[in-house]
Amino acid sequence: MARDLTKTRALFERAKQVIPYGVNSNFRYWGDEETLVATRGEGAYIWDADGNRYIDYRLAFGPIILGHAYPAVVERVAEAIRDGTTFAWTTPLEVQVAERIVRMTGVDQVRLSNTGTEATMHALRIARAYTSRERFIKFEGQYHGMYDYVLFTTAGTPASALGSRRNPINVQMSSGIPEGIRRYVINLPFNDVERLEETVEARWHELAAIIVEPLLGNAAGILPRPGWLEKIRELCDRYGIVLIFDEVKTGFRIANGGAQEYFGVRADLVTYAKAMGNGFPIAAIGGRREVMATVEPGRVSHGGTYTGNAVGTAAADATLEVLETKPIIKTIFRRGRQLMEGIHEILTRADIPHAMTGLPPIFSFILGTDEEPVDFRGYIQGDEDLYEALVMALIERGVMPDADGREPWFLCYSHDEEVIADTLTAFEDAVREVKSRS
Ligand code: PMP
Repeated sequence: MARDLTKTRALFERAKQVIPYGVNSNFRYWGDEETLVATRGEGAYIWDADGNRYIDYRLAFGPIILGHAYPAVVERVAEAIRDGTTFAWTTPLEVQVAERIVRMTGVDQVRLSNTGTEATMHALRIARAYTSRERFIKFEGQYHGMYDYVLFTTAGTPASALGSRRNPINVQMSSGIPEGIRRYVINLPFNDVERLEETVEARWHELAAIIVEPLLGNAAGILPRPGWLEKIRELCDRYGIVLIFDEVKTGFRIANGGAQEYFGVRADLVTYAKAMGNGFPIAAIGGRREVMATVEPGRVSHGGTYTGNAVGTAAADATLEVLETKPIIKTIFRRGRQLMEGIHEILTRADIPHAMTGLPPIFSFILGTDEEPVDFRGYIQGDEDLYEALVMALIERGVMPDADGREPWFLCYSHDEEVIADTLTAFEDAVREVKSRS
């Protein structure tokens, strides 16, 4: 029996009257029939306006690491904001959060921002100021935020537009970007050492930065091949290029020290957001002292009215304290592994070719091929229609990953063993339904 979505649809109709497409971020628009209106979240669950409950694996695209409305975080924020929220002065809370980030990640210094977009935008500026160069390399399928410089060849790029591997095309992801901006970005395939070496050797003198998502958190969590991140590090060292790890999705999710700790490679600058605030708006740029020192009043700009505000900063303080004092990420790995193994078994039994991708706290899978993708070009070989059909059948059963398989399944500490077991029961059922239709 299909869910009742009467109230949800009525609210969405109202939303469309006053908000373009009824959403405040384009990624949330799933079409007029499927876009939901959410009213509540608690732990591993969210509810729509009709009271339908879903086990949430979108987790707002990753920030929820502990659980929705996690009491320790909500209480710390409520307590902090009673004393005011923003003063345009440094607060003790900001000092404490910066100390936590330094301790947990091993960076020398941090500046706080509000969103991942702001963090990567400032990181690129710092890299340019530090090197006196202007261009940068990113990798196909990577997303770094909503500003003009980085909106090229993100995970929404159609396969036919990518161009050849030898000479990739910068695919502009939005109208309204000035024509000249595309000259600053170079997109290359992830995990392709030969292409990277060739490009850096030819163009190092104009390269300020290589910005990399250490695993492709916007393209199914595709993993770096052994040696790949080390190779990027080596090339940056040899040619004086700033290495930026964009850890907006991996930070405080795959280890307390993020991808730097997990993969054992250190960047010059690192950007954090999402999991550091368990759903509150807070971000950070961290890095080596010498590079961070580039942010100098009157010379290299970083800031904003709300940077370090009490809401996001208190949320980060509480979230990071829980992560630092309890085996949260270890537990998430264990449960995520159970879920990945369960999914793999069910798909194998159903004779559906598939390959699992990513790490247990941030994973996905592709269908229709059993070849594990190593880059965005490999990912789009998968059967995206079958994936979407499977997810829609799951959502009907109260389990909600994103319908777009590029957006990984995110786990949080509130996905306990019972939730995982319920998910696998629904998954088995959804696979049966999708198979019976084909
Ligand atoms: N970098 C990465 C790797 C991201 O995944 C995102 C958001 N999905 C961003 C940057 C931008 O973050 P925000 O949406 O907070 O601006």
